[in-house]
Amino acid sequence: MQIIYSDLLCIGAGLAGERVAVEAAKAGFDVICLSIVPPRRSHSSAAQGGMQAALGNAIMGDGDSPDIHFADTVKGSDWGCDQEVARIFADTAPIVMREVAHWGVPWNRVEAGVHTYYKGGKPFDAEEKRDKHGLIHARAFGGTAKWRTCYTADGTGRSVLNTLDSMCLRYEVGIHDRTQAEALIHDGENCLGAIVRCLKTGELKAYLATATLIATGGYGRIYRATTNAVICDGGGQIAALDTGLVPMGNMEAIQFHPTGTVPTDILVTEGCRGDGGTLLDVNEYRFMPDYEPEKAELASRDVVSRRMQEHIRKGLGVKSPYGDHLWLDIRHLGEKHITTKLREVYDICTNFLGVNPIHDLIPVRPTQHYSMGGIRTDKDGAAYGLKGLFSAGESACWDMHGFNRLGGNSLAETVVAGRYVGKKIVEFLQGHTVDFKQSAINDAHTKVAARIMEMTKSSSKQESAIQLRDEMHSIMMDNVGIFRNGKDLQTAVDQLEELIDRSKNIKLQGSAIGFNPEISLALRIPGMLKLAQCTAYGALMRTESRGAHTREDFPERNDKEWLNRTLAYWKEGKTRPELKYEEASPYFEIPPGERGYGGGKIITADIPEEKLRVPGKGAGEKKEKPSQKAS
Ligand SMILES: Cc1cc2nc3c(=O)[nH]c(=O)nc-3n(C[C@H](O)[C@H](O)[C@H](O)COP(=O)(O)OP(=O)(O)OC[C@H]3O[C@@H](n4cnc5c(N)ncnc54)[C@H](O)[C@@H]3O)c2cc1C
Repeated sequence: MQIIYSDLLCIGAGLAGERVAVEAAKAGFDVICLSIVPPRRSHSSAAQGGMQAALGNAIMGDGDSPDIHFADTVKGSDWGCDQEVARIFADTAPIVMREVAHWGVPWNRVEAGVHTYYKGGKPFDAEEKRDKHGLIHARAFGGTAKWRTCYTADGTGRSVLNTLDSMCLRYEVGIHDRTQAEALIHDGENCLGAIVRCLKTGELKAYLATATLIATGGYGRIYRATTNAVICDGGGQIAALDTGLVPMGNMEAIQFHPTGTVPTDILVTEGCRGDGGTLLDVNEYRFMPDYEPEKAELASRDVVSRRMQEHIRKGLGVKSPYGDHLWLDIRHLGEKHITTKLREVYDICTNFLGVNPIHDLIPVRPTQHYSMGGIRTDKDGAAYGLKGLFSAGESACWDMHGFNRLGGNSLAETVVAGRYVGKKIVEFLQGHTVDFKQSAINDAHTKVAARIMEMTKSSSKQESAIQLRDEMHSIMMDNVGIFRNGKDLQTAVDQLEELIDRSKNIKLQGSAIGFNPEISLALRIPGMLKLAQCTAYGALMRTESRGAHTREDFPERNDKEWLNRTLAYWKEGKTRPELKYEEASPYFEIPPGERGYGGGKIITADIPEEKLRVPGKGAGEKKEKPSQKAS
């Protein structure tokens, strides 16, 4: 077996993986990034709308600050986030946004003078300031008090990823694409790298490294209807969970985006609503202000998705062969706006839906979109349970998102966490050595090789990976969606247990062990089922409603009993995870309160004095107890 050494192994070459890689390579370390696809095809490239940072350049962002960004993020998370992490994030985002501009990201810029913008379908004029001319511009996104979502037309993810990938070339990061990590190599205490499968030849290789980063993105593909790319199957989370030592955080925290298109599930960006798009029902009536008078279409995603689903349940959706949907209306924005600032939306609608958004309504409905849960790390990005293992980006539960991430906060998280965690990894690498125990390498290799051998050779096996995937999709779509209840969740948990048992008997139809999509899926399915089970079981046990986790049988947000984070561990041979809980946040700069949108009852908790901190100061000195109501 070929063995490849590096100081840092980044599993994943999306925005988070590449940003961490650049930080370590700049510090002189030898870095390798693995990716299933060429890095520029990573899922980050599909992000259209933008990245949040409190720059305050646009007139509609005037007076913005990291404090306001922090407050929006905490409220958006429904107080499920780690406020220490959200503070690091909000304070660092403006620095990182300017840094990537310096590296070449062509941000849209402020143009001085009067401009016509839209809110809720209505035009208004605003004058951009002369002294801000040429600075990074911003647009509105859901759940924000100020316009702070920086963008490059609606191809933000692509431009930032191209820039980061060029930086990787400049700093000579080794990019090994068409390679898929299958298992972590560890000795019970230290992570030593990964067993990796070459997708062209099927060869297994050991990548050994002093530090290993998992930055493999989300696990949206456990659902059938998702905006996520086909490679978002949670490979990194599976490898971590399979160690039995590394827990997943808040796997039940799944975000549904209001505007997945019907029937393709391709996303049209939140920028549509941010730029003034409205949601209409079967009667072409704008219903959101009835539910959310204050924020309407620009409430947070969990709230808008819930309201849409409620409206469809009232029979006010549009019937279609693909199920009921609603309409997104951006016609009033006009041809110039749609073909420049929303040009990818224009292309998606015309190419995939046969709809011209300049003249026609766009069919949309809430669709699985983002994984708030993932590999639980501390604030430095170090995974719980194994030394030398880190995670960043959507694969991680660093936890600035809690139970709902704000639009534009995820792309920003990839580069902010990438920089921050990258620096912590550099500190870790300085002076640290590991013993690459041969027995650990052999164990990990033998397990993966045996799985492949059994699937291809054993005559007693008969399960189809594709069949298991389809059944998992149905279970998740039917029982673990936007509205959840104990009965359906119990059904999901029971049925997933059966699938997990059956997945031990997967048999391949074909026999090729090299370039063969079936074998990739077959290797991944048992792990995807475990991630699905962590999601379903975590949701069953969390008897409250918080952010995107809505329990019809427990409609209150229960701060008294559930102001915590679920940790899911998987012990070998089990069919459901072992759950533990930890406090949601080490301290509260903003004590739990009302979000200002979404409604719903709250069972309040009395936060101890020592857990309250001075706003804007993080873990600074205590002061008199602030009001429990968030302003
Ligand atoms: C359609 C869409 C639009 C979005 N728009 C926005 C937006 O406008 N603003 C915003 O803030 N957020 C947006 N998001 C969310 C945001 O794009 C993602 O959260 C973010 O890009 C994730 O980046 P990442 O680096 O963590 O992972 P990714 O970009 O998903 O990269 C994962 C990497 O891991 C690799 N990989 C995966 N598994 C393995 C394995 N087993 N072995 C080796 N390599 C592996 C992949 O090849 C890839 O290189 C959007 C998401 C979607 C789905």
